[in-house]
Amino acid sequence: MTNPSLLILPGDGIGPEVMAEVRKIIDWFGAKRGIVFDVSEDLVGGAAYDLHGTPLHDDTMAKAQAADAVLLGAVGGPKYDVLDFSVKPERGLLRLRKEMDLFSNLRPAQCFDALADFSSLKKDVVAGLDIMIVRELTSGVYFGEPRGIFKEGNERVGINTQRYTESEIARVARSAFELAMRRDKKLCSMEKANVMESGILWREVVTEVGKDYPEVELSHMYADAGAMQLTRWPKQFDVIVTDNLFGDLLSDLAAMLTGSLGMLPSASLGAPMANGRPKALYEPVHGSAPDIAGQGKANPIACILSFAMALRYSFDQGEEAARLEAAIEKVLADGARTADLMGPDGGTPVSTSGMGDAILAA
Ligand code: ATP
Ligand code: MG
Repeated sequence: MTNPSLLILPGDGIGPEVMAEVRKIIDWFGAKRGIVFDVSEDLVGGAAYDLHGTPLHDDTMAKAQAADAVLLGAVGGPKYDVLDFSVKPERGLLRLRKEMDLFSNLRPAQCFDALADFSSLKKDVVAGLDIMIVRELTSGVYFGEPRGIFKEGNERVGINTQRYTESEIARVARSAFELAMRRDKKLCSMEKANVMESGILWREVVTEVGKDYPEVELSHMYADAGAMQLTRWPKQFDVIVTDNLFGDLLSDLAAMLTGSLGMLPSASLGAPMANGRPKALYEPVHGSAPDIAGQGKANPIACILSFAMALRYSFDQGEEAARLEAAIEKVLADGARTADLMGPDGGTPVSTSGMGDAILAA
């Protein structure tokens, strides 16, 4: 039997720093729990541009297609701002998402008890919060045609088109129902069927797919009402499925219920591969954070939690993922804080590697 394969793309800025902590944890799983990955590492973003003149080499793209999962750090940085759009670091990430056809973007909003004071909301509203937003990632208003800035009479008009086919809605709906089955069996679909045809179709198709999941309690909500409910009482939700644009807004909103950017993982999933698991790219929500890069200040938890998602969704190791999350919970409860998790009078922060070591020890 061959070991499951994991392609690691540390990228730019704090990407390599936080990924180094994940590497320690991967090694620990091999040494202590006998869970061995076939790990390879490659370049993406500015790091790839510096060596190859392109933010994603074709060989790297091929490796990503062949891997059981890809774990990415972050791309970009001020050094690359002057580059032509076609070779910008972000284009490397966009190419991965596009060619792997990753249509389902999972953004958990999970509040560790020790950090509940960090939320902008009251503690009892967020303590213990654990919800998942599934955002459609490859279609909708970001891609629909016609699009552009056109001349209309003697003024210009900017046009974007919200467009969804039944199959595009059905596949993301299915991935959300599958997720709900593994969690609390509750799914809320959000659109604006009151004012948008794509929303009417969205609601119809999600309802139809739901017939295959009679155990899942399905509800529908207009996305604006959803935004309101997410801030009023977010614990009423388990899994939320929504389109590309609403998902962009709602997942950022939900994320900030829980505190720092340094804590937020994500997964982007595509169609099932031969092994039955979806094509998958895992990455922290944060960017390359050039303001703190190279200083050992970055919080590695978002990237470590992204690896936990990989354990759960790509490698059938849900219990090991929960064990890793519990270690993070414990370290936070014991008081370890990177600088991003501290108030102005917080005391002495731990470094990136200090946090990684504490999680390993726990
Ligand atoms: P991008 O365009 O790549 O998404 P961005 O402009 O949204 O980048 P980030 O790079 O995510 O920004 O950083 C935003 C702020 O959050 C910065 O001040 C950064 O230092 C901080 N930050 C981001 N990630 C972390 C982290 N892992 N640990 C600590 N601070 C972080
Ligand atoms: Mg950003």
